[in-house]
Amino acid sequence: MKEVFNLDRLLMNGLPYAFLLEVLLRCVVMYITALIVLKSAGRRGVKQLSVFELVIILTLGSAAGDPLFYEDVGLIPAICVFTFILALYRFTTYLISRSENVEVWLEGKPIYLIRNGQFSIEEFAKEPLALDEFFAELRLRNVSHIGQVDLAILETNGQISVFFFKDEDVRAGLPILPHLFNKEVKIFEPNKVYACKFCANTSKTAAVQTELVCNRCEKERWVLALDSKRVG
Ligand SMILES: [Zn+2]
Repeated sequence: MKEVFNLDRLLMNGLPYAFLLEVLLRCVVMYITALIVLKSAGRRGVKQLSVFELVIILTLGSAAGDPLFYEDVGLIPAICVFTFILALYRFTTYLISRSENVEVWLEGKPIYLIRNGQFSIEEFAKEPLALDEFFAELRLRNVSHIGQVDLAILETNGQISVFFFKDEDVRAGLPILPHLFNKEVKIFEPNKVYACKFCANTSKTAAVQTELVCNRCEKERWVLALDSKRVG
């Protein structure tokens, strides 16, 4: 039978105080692990919360809860976890304030997803981005095709800013409504505008043809472009 209110167990679970050094090492390892894993998840994976806030929540989560009722978790190591994680957090924010490189690595820069009614395909490669999720976000802002969008920017907090063309500047563009986006064209007819499914570039053909290569990304998958104004 274990003794209740045993001070040695309550504070340190019978471990020597040198164990606190091990707690420090565990904190450093888990803090860095959480930071790297969450960062590599991409900013869309941690929408709304900054990577840091999430790291703090994860690393402190069980440190706060476990000592409340697990008899084999001492209070002092748990309190040390708080202190160490806070110190690591302060140290990281200090590094960010001192070095722009560290800031860019940890927090990233805004990324242009759409420029001038076309996808910035070079930028797409830098950030894992689910295209259907991106399209859904545009549709929620009443965008039916990319020709209505002047700029779309993925902000560092994972949200997307969208700037629209004025009605008179809207041009034919790639439809993002699922039933139109999935309707690939096999036979191209003159006087119609087609939109590249990969880069949102548009093109016309002079005669009826069965093949069309995108002069921007060299892919060959097209759908009929839309040129309607944005309503809503
Ligand atoms: Zn293309």
